[in-house]
Amino acid sequence: MKTKAEWQSLSDSLTFRNQAYVGGRFQPAVSGETFSSINPANEQVLTEVASCDQDDVDLAVSVARQTFNSGAWSGKSPAERKAVLLRLADLMDRHRDELALTDTLDMGKSIHETVNIDLPDSIDCFRWTAESIDKVYGEIAPTGNETLGLISHEPVGVVAAITPWNYPLMMASWKLAPALAAGNSVILKPSEKSPLSVLRLAELATEAGLPDGVLNVVPGYGHTAGKALALHKDVNVLAFTGSSRVGGMLMEYAGQSNLKKVWLEAGGKSPMVVFDDYSDIRKAAQTAAAAIFSNQGEVCIACSRLYLQRSIKDQFLAELKEAAKTYQGGDPLDPDTRMGALVDKAQLDTVSRYIQSAIDDGATVLTGGVPDYLEGRGYFVEPTIMDGANNDMRFVQEEIFGPVLAVCEFGDEDQAIELANDNPYGLGASVWTDNLSRAHRVSRKIQSGMVWVNGWGGGDSTMPFGGVKASGNGRDKSLHSIEKYTDLKTVWISL
Ligand code: NAD
Repeated sequence: MKTKAEWQSLSDSLTFRNQAYVGGRFQPAVSGETFSSINPANEQVLTEVASCDQDDVDLAVSVARQTFNSGAWSGKSPAERKAVLLRLADLMDRHRDELALTDTLDMGKSIHETVNIDLPDSIDCFRWTAESIDKVYGEIAPTGNETLGLISHEPVGVVAAITPWNYPLMMASWKLAPALAAGNSVILKPSEKSPLSVLRLAELATEAGLPDGVLNVVPGYGHTAGKALALHKDVNVLAFTGSSRVGGMLMEYAGQSNLKKVWLEAGGKSPMVVFDDYSDIRKAAQTAAAAIFSNQGEVCIACSRLYLQRSIKDQFLAELKEAAKTYQGGDPLDPDTRMGALVDKAQLDTVSRYIQSAIDDGATVLTGGVPDYLEGRGYFVEPTIMDGANNDMRFVQEEIFGPVLAVCEFGDEDQAIELANDNPYGLGASVWTDNLSRAHRVSRKIQSGMVWVNGWGGGDSTMPFGGVKASGNGRDKSLHSIEKYTDLKTVWISL
């Protein structure tokens, strides 16, 4: 790992790609408009980025459609597509410091996280998916002797991917790897809050041998570029990661336009439930701290609701307070920093409002609290633990997307399950117990797409990632992610 001074020196020499990437080349927005990309840790402008709107989206979709129809990529064999995507993974590996640093500067997260989580995960996603694509078989249906029924997976055509700012490269990789591996052409609209790393990624994809026009990137605001993509009649699939509120709007846009399929990976308010039969309280408390304070709590699967069985609560909170000290906000370029800055002032204001609402509702501040903001010094919040919370409080029900933990208590297993499920979201859940039967019972009853028993967040490319209820309908990662970007084609042959 480089030192802080080395990261600083590398960032001084970094040049950002800041234009739209369409048809294999960078170009300004048709309107010529730009927006500023800000470093959240010091509020300085990193670069001015092309602000794409309807005209740019129309152009990108038409380029993507032509490329798809040409067969330049869609017509390649799975093994040929695999080779290109593996080369891309190698190039990401070669440029990992540059990509990690770009996300840290653009989004405010620590360099420790981008180097150790975002980059390895993104590269692995491309490698794993590329390696899988030439192992996906079709089927022969049991139709009987008079016919041959063939079932195959076809690319859908033009895919639009709209991604959030919290893991800029990683969330894009989770969409791009399967969509491209399946043979589609893609238009990616990154968040306006962290658009830079994926522009470089698109350039690397061209270097890896991806034909021009297969991967296009249109940076811009959601209600212009994003909405234009969602309403576009020539987009076949819309793959989204972001808030449940915007996810719902995208479903409406699909209904108003061409019934494109909409895959949503949306918000979360994940519970962590700790039973008193679990023996290693320190480990559980350290994981609870990581589960809400890493990435500044700007994590869809953050365990922002902690349910502790009454008899272990005091001991657990003492360990948790100790563990939270690791996450004091600091310079994201310092390799020792574990919690960086929030993405922008709006997010800082949202987090501050929720902490205040928790206090107003009767919860007590155990660590942290409403942040003191000093203009020009970055958007930092202390790790905040609120004790005495319950499910009737607003900050326990709504996604905050910041380092704010609600501590609640429960009596028995039934009550734990009831409290954990009493929430609109259903993304992840973490359950701590040494009782194997209880682990299975509770995992079955918890309403969430993912459950971690005696752990949190672990996941590689082999397991699907996604939720139920207001957390969405799609799954990223694993072989199941490829299903989102393929249609089933059936061919009946009369014999
Ligand atoms: P967001 O919904 O505000 O924005 C997500 C993307 O949608 C951005 O690119 C944005 O520009 C775009 N957008 C906004 N309004 C739009 C509109 N009207 N039409 C089309 N596009 C529009 O979310 P965010 O603040 O960027 O990200 C945080 C959210 O993402 C949280 O809710 C978090 O839980 C969720 N998230 C979910 C997962 C998951 O896998 N389930 C992963 C990461 C983040």
